[in-house]
Amino acid sequence: MKLSESQKLFLLESIRNVPDFPKAGVQFKDITTLTGDPKAFKMVIDHFAERYENAKIDFVVGAESRGFIFGAPLAMALGVGFVPIRKRGKLPYTTISEKYALEYGFNEVQIHMDAFSAIKNARALFIDDLIATGGTAEASIKLVEKAGAKCIEACFVINLFALGGADAVKRHTSFYSILDIDGE
Ligand code: AMP
Repeated sequence: MKLSESQKLFLLESIRNVPDFPKAGVQFKDITTLTGDPKAFKMVIDHFAERYENAKIDFVVGAESRGFIFGAPLAMALGVGFVPIRKRGKLPYTTISEKYALEYGFNEVQIHMDAFSAIKNARALFIDDLIATGGTAEASIKLVEKAGAKCIEACFVINLFALGGADAVKRHTSFYSILDIDGE
């Protein structure tokens, strides 16, 4: 079911904006105030679970680290497995890597090479708390495909739409966000 405007406003107001974190000029969207409110947290997970209950998803894939907070309960609600994508050097077994450019330098994310091996042609749903430039999501979707699954959609609680991340995602898969927020 679609969230009403008042439900969206309630979620929006449950997210704390922290100016100049982690550096000057960034408006950090702090979702710990949302997850700390059981009504808001449940509203988000229930909404995603309803959206994907008939989507024949085999795995939910979450990006470190806030993608884990939403991805794990969603996987449980859908009755499917959860696969983590982590920063370089954190996963213990054989990994596949993907680098992506930042304003200065680059980041690298990894997935276990056998993450989807239990299901042939697995269908995966990617989730993160927020999309900004889309660099993290794009690299993560590439990893999902390299590991042998099909990413059927990438979903987010918050889309900072002025930064254009949705367009980057749409080059690879379908895009969904609950809240669209202007600016950084
Ligand atoms: P990007 O790769 O630019 O789309 O950035 C998305 C990742 O960085 C996500 O994992 C977010 O959790 C985090 N992130 C980027 N910008 C913000 C922001 N303004 N507030 C909170 N998290 C952010």
